[in-house]
Amino acid sequence: MKVAVVGAGIAGIACARLLHQAGVETVIFEKSKGFSGRAATRRVGPYTFDTGATSITPRGRALETVMMSEISTQGLIRIERPIYTHVYGRIEPGDPMKNRIPRYVYESGINQIGKRLATGLDIRLETEISAMELPRDGGVFVHDQVFDRAVLAVPLPQAQTLLQSAKDPRLLTASVYRPCLSILLGFAVPFDAPYHAILDPDQLHPLTWLSVETLKSPGRAPAGHTALVAQMGPAYSRRNDKTEDDRIIKDVLVDIQRLLGDEFVEPEVAEVKRWKYSQPESTISFAALNAPGRPIIVSGDGTTGGRIEHAYEAGMAAAQSILQT
Ligand SMILES: Cc1cc2nc3c(=O)[nH]c(=O)nc-3n(C[C@H](O)[C@H](O)[C@H](O)COP(=O)(O)OP(=O)(O)OC[C@H]3O[C@@H](n4cnc5c(N)ncnc54)[C@H](O)[C@@H]3O)c2cc1C
Repeated sequence: MKVAVVGAGIAGIACARLLHQAGVETVIFEKSKGFSGRAATRRVGPYTFDTGATSITPRGRALETVMMSEISTQGLIRIERPIYTHVYGRIEPGDPMKNRIPRYVYESGINQIGKRLATGLDIRLETEISAMELPRDGGVFVHDQVFDRAVLAVPLPQAQTLLQSAKDPRLLTASVYRPCLSILLGFAVPFDAPYHAILDPDQLHPLTWLSVETLKSPGRAPAGHTALVAQMGPAYSRRNDKTEDDRIIKDVLVDIQRLLGDEFVEPEVAEVKRWKYSQPESTISFAALNAPGRPIIVSGDGTTGGRIEHAYEAGMAAAQSILQT
């Protein structure tokens, strides 16, 4: 048996990892230069930013056992400082119940989760799959070879395009993903606070989440510097889909100056990362999408929920459905 997995995010890696452990030959095709997908880290100069997911909350689910006992825990830290809220510019302690949930990240970046889970897997980087075929005599034609099964571990709108290319009639339009503009900012200014992030609980303000990367984890910037990641809400992100970076950076700096103080006006690093598909607003269950025995299996967080631990379970479900049949 030979399986192709499209996408080296957490779902694709989890699927390939379980198949590999069961002795199934598996190849992952990944369009970008690195892996871990939206659990992404970017280094700019002396700063390290988690540009997509900001922390891992395994909450006793399958991922927790794997993280704590199957892969290396070196540099894995539990984030000590809580999340506060900001409402009309006022910063206040957040929900104590939510703050009791353990949150984790890796010192050198959240993408370590994907890198560690992927040890030993066959991943073809910079290989975008733009079409697939279902040959008459069975299997799935992907890239330049026929596989027995293929797993689409990408956001559902991207999976839809691939299904269509293979003339597979399944419709995934019930799942809608929200966009997110993430702004990475590095300041040559120190900052301390009792929190590691602030969020707008009502999602009324364009700036819905501000992570102080340097308070989340050590080593994200040299001493005396501050690394921030600002995530803009879906309404702002949709409206400014085509707005130039400088304009977006100007907008967010107004908010940051108001929230953190007048030292935060001139960043030495400022970049915009545009997530077209950040997290699903609605999901389609894995079982509803994947009748047993189909050559193409649809996985990814659109089948379970927009969290790393859910993406891991989407990958597990895909692997289990292959192993069962
Ligand atoms: C801004 C933001 C904040 C978030 N915050 C959190 C958080 O704090 N905690 C949390 O748990 N989760 C968070 N999430 C959600 C979490 O990151 C995702 O749910 C999870 O990482 C999804 O994993 P996945 O494997 O399903 O998809 P992805 O990570 O998207 O992986 C899909 C992979 O497929 C590749 N790909 C796509 N199309 C093709 C193609 N045609 N050919 C080859 N490769 C292709 C992509 O490059 C990507 O690497 C956040 C996400 C974003 C964007």
